[in-house]
Amino acid sequence: MIRINQIKISIFEIGTDREKEKEIVKRHAAALLGCRGKDIRKFRLVRRSVDAREKDDICYVYTADVRLRDSVVGPSAQTELAFVNSLRNRDIRQYTGTPLTLPTDAGERVLNRVPTQKDTVKNESAQPETRQEELQLCPVIVGSGPCGLFAAYVFAECGFRPVILERGDDVDTRTAKTERFFESGKLDPDCNIQFGEGGAGTFSDGKLNTSIKDRGGFIEFVLRTFVKFGADPDILIDQKPHVGTDVLVDVIRNMRKYIIEKGGTYLFHSRFDGFECRPAEIMPCSSAEKSAGKPGDQTPDASKQCICAVRYTDVRTGKREMLPCDTLILATGHSARDTYEMLRNSGLELAAKPFAAGIRIQHPQELIDAALYGTERLPEKQEILGPAAYKLTHHAENGRSCFSFCMCPGGYVVNSSSEEGRLCINGMSYHDRASGVANSALIVNIDPEDYYAYTGSEDILSGIKFQRKLEEKAYEACGGVIPYETFREFKEKNPGPAGVSSFRREFLGYAATADVRGMLPEYMGDALDESIHAFARTIPGYDSDEAIIAGIEARTSSPVRILRDDTRQANIAGIYPAGEGAGYAGGITSAAADGIKTALAVIEALLSDTF
Ligand SMILES: Cc1cc2nc3c(=O)[nH]c(=O)nc-3n(C[C@H](O)[C@H](O)[C@H](O)COP(=O)(O)OP(=O)(O)OC[C@H]3O[C@@H](n4cnc5c(N)ncnc54)[C@H](O)[C@@H]3O)c2cc1C
Repeated sequence: MIRINQIKISIFEIGTDREKEKEIVKRHAAALLGCRGKDIRKFRLVRRSVDAREKDDICYVYTADVRLRDSVVGPSAQTELAFVNSLRNRDIRQYTGTPLTLPTDAGERVLNRVPTQKDTVKNESAQPETRQEELQLCPVIVGSGPCGLFAAYVFAECGFRPVILERGDDVDTRTAKTERFFESGKLDPDCNIQFGEGGAGTFSDGKLNTSIKDRGGFIEFVLRTFVKFGADPDILIDQKPHVGTDVLVDVIRNMRKYIIEKGGTYLFHSRFDGFECRPAEIMPCSSAEKSAGKPGDQTPDASKQCICAVRYTDVRTGKREMLPCDTLILATGHSARDTYEMLRNSGLELAAKPFAAGIRIQHPQELIDAALYGTERLPEKQEILGPAAYKLTHHAENGRSCFSFCMCPGGYVVNSSSEEGRLCINGMSYHDRASGVANSALIVNIDPEDYYAYTGSEDILSGIKFQRKLEEKAYEACGGVIPYETFREFKEKNPGPAGVSSFRREFLGYAATADVRGMLPEYMGDALDESIHAFARTIPGYDSDEAIIAGIEARTSSPVRILRDDTRQANIAGIYPAGEGAGYAGGITSAAADGIKTALAVIEALLSDTF
């Protein structure tokens, strides 16, 4: 296979006809290879990005994979390589990547192991006797966000029967509850924008871009799986793939049905709130120890505990239940603050971690499009490219970095609260990104020292205390509806009465004017103020007096990390912290990739003779 990078084609040549796009790119690829279109045996678009640096010559930049006929490249990989080398073009090279494959027979291999005396687990608190292999076939996953969902999917594909504990409702009930919350302000603390099937990303922009490198094909696997279950195939090639909340809901429902068909179980409105341990008998040895040539932990380790059951509560009835479990994937997301407290009190090792917090800013989408695409032939460019997205960073004089985050073209600012008496916001959009208003979080880096100073406590969980304090201020400012002000009021530190703006604003949930800057520590307000002015150098008008600023965005990532070793287990064996809440991901795609890797690590441990 030959990979060609940097195939640059004017957006006007491609236009809006996606059918013709492949043919046009193929033609350009053939020209770059110095052959004819009919010499191409196989052709695949790999990536499509936009180069808008020259406003009057905006181009798509493609990557494509090509297989040429033997008559052109010869019969073998070596002759193909010789052909590629003869082109002397750094953007053309031989490509030998292989997609991620799953060990689909793993469940069967575990089940067919000959049972031994030690493989029969006696656990009075859970259930009398369970054959170890049968228990191993049913790993428990807490949370059905991208991390838990993809872990469950991998298990199901590999012949396991995962049990998914989810405190919120299924995605359809959750959608109805969320709409009711926007209308009435009545919050369900277990089912809301953060909690429920699909996790925090369900009511989102559904941006699937990530900065993590795709060594091992995990990201491609995530995107292909989304397409398999209903997402637009364009996400496979777009540099900034976007699904939209309306499509994500369908994808999540379809994945759940598939996992259940394969033998998985979903327990909705089931809040995980504890676990039981027993002394570890034989510990799996870590790969680091293996590679260091240590004999491996085949001997009993009395100091280490391993999980044997989980406790959960039906949040509708308050009934408490117990489930036998020797593998627990903790994919609870960053908003499960009560769960962090329980885990810490149960002996799991946690560490404080930096994160970022700030506000969300709204502008007319037209202003952003004009700045990034240029005003000439703007309507045509908008039709071809869709609403423009931006990414901005600034290092402020007070030493703080400020950056745009989770920018939502044609989106909405949404009330994404999950706790009574506290308010937080986020951004989302539908597949068509057609609201006409661009919004983005603008956030400032926060270190543990900042939140230790702000809360007067060096507790591991004081990052959560910091978030809660900001969110309480936001809630109190307007009695639970989203507080906003114009940039004029923000920069003048003018607590009101709020001025009028001709800029349209788009909120899901009610909003009212308030002193947003007054809710923030001074260094955050100063860094944001300076950065918004600086961003106007890239996007003229960004610092318009009329820009709308809403607060508070404090949940950009987890303020806590649940420690795990190189087998991905916590200090209690059999517990696998994963995803964003455990501090190992930031966004839908990286959380999903972490879920896949964690499920594969569990399977590897089960198949190795060390278990
Ligand atoms: C409004 C909004 C928009 C966003 N937009 C984007 C975007 O466009 N692109 C992007 O990449 N990221 C976006 N994000 C961030 C993204 O959603 C998260 O990074 C991602 O969902 C993290 O995945 P996760 O599986 O680790 O955790 P989560 O998605 O948070 O899932 C955790 C799950 O665990 C459940 N849970 C928690 N505690 C318990 C418990 N004790 N018992 C049982 N269940 C429990 C929760 O109900 C939840 O379903 C957005 C987030 C929000 C809120």
